[in-house]
Amino acid sequence: MTRCFAMLLVCMLVAPPARAQEPDATARLLRDLSEAPGPSGFEEAVRALVVGEYRALGAEIAFDGLGSVLATLPGSPNGPRIMVTAHLDEVGLMVQYITDDGFLRVRNLGGFLDQAYPDQRWTVLGRNGPIQAFSGLPTVHVTPADQRARVWSLSEIFLDVGATSRAEAEGLGIRPGDGIAPWSPFTVLPNGRYAAKAWDDRVGLAVMIAAARRIRAEGIRVPARVVWVATSQEEVGLRGAQTAVDLADADLGISVEAGVAADYPGIGPTQAQERLGRGPGIFLLDSSMIPNRKLRDFFFDVARAEGIPLQTDVLTGYGEDGAEIQLYDTGRPAVNITVPARYLHAHTGVIQRSDFDQAVELLIQVLLRLDADAVAEIGSFEP
Ligand SMILES: [Zn+2]
Repeated sequence: MTRCFAMLLVCMLVAPPARAQEPDATARLLRDLSEAPGPSGFEEAVRALVVGEYRALGAEIAFDGLGSVLATLPGSPNGPRIMVTAHLDEVGLMVQYITDDGFLRVRNLGGFLDQAYPDQRWTVLGRNGPIQAFSGLPTVHVTPADQRARVWSLSEIFLDVGATSRAEAEGLGIRPGDGIAPWSPFTVLPNGRYAAKAWDDRVGLAVMIAAARRIRAEGIRVPARVVWVATSQEEVGLRGAQTAVDLADADLGISVEAGVAADYPGIGPTQAQERLGRGPGIFLLDSSMIPNRKLRDFFFDVARAEGIPLQTDVLTGYGEDGAEIQLYDTGRPAVNITVPARYLHAHTGVIQRSDFDQAVELLIQVLLRLDADAVAEIGSFEP
């Protein structure tokens, strides 16, 4: 072995692995929003990020009585009012009680499959700050063979925070009623895919913020008055949207959500139709609303004109905030658009950056065209 070759070998052995590309501003936004803990009713960390982003853009901020955020960018014209909305909260847990030996018994905030509870890492939002917790699982060594494929129900799940007594857990700042969020760091995957928790609906919030950033940075003039709304408590029954619609007083609504990608083993097109990498999606039907058909077709027309692919989805087990805009006052046109996501309502979902970027572009292009005439025409049922 020559000395030169030996040196090269040493270099190869000690050289650090190739570093992943530094995240750009959009990836950082997605990372920060996804990693913020915010189960329904405990949205403070996410709300602070959203308010910070819109304040940095010079927006006027208002809140409803449930903690939804309403932002209006400076220079917004008086004209038809458009509510663009996404929700702050994610599915999580709440401390039900603390056992004598310091374990947490929990209830769910929003819907998980029972399979998603055990053997996970969580963040308890205690009064002294976040506390890491782990959902324990009986070990295989003591589980009878006929029990090894069993799904553990929520009533059997407990969280371990390292405490040995109730008093010790209380000393950490934990009380019954505390919120608990999944703990799952943002991770960049090949193909511009991002794995993280809470894409439902942090990806929707990120679409709104990225669109607002571009509107401000590029001086884009939107003909309508857009109210950017981040709602609370969507996962427990669209509650923040119910209270925010009154304040937004919108003539038309666009909900931005995480779509259901059905492009992995065990799920197929009879359940959901979106796929990663095929662009943003639009719901044709979900369990909470039938979207306004003129507004739906407006999106198709704009997408076609701009060369943006637009996927469709028909879902029967999915409700979203657009339904509350639709039922506001005497009724309003509303639609739900999406960024496709895999594995919603679990610790780690996957989205694709190109779908996200195209969703932002589609939203901006639609807002550019929704002037007073277009909004009036979409809302008209004159035969
Ligand atoms: Zn959602």
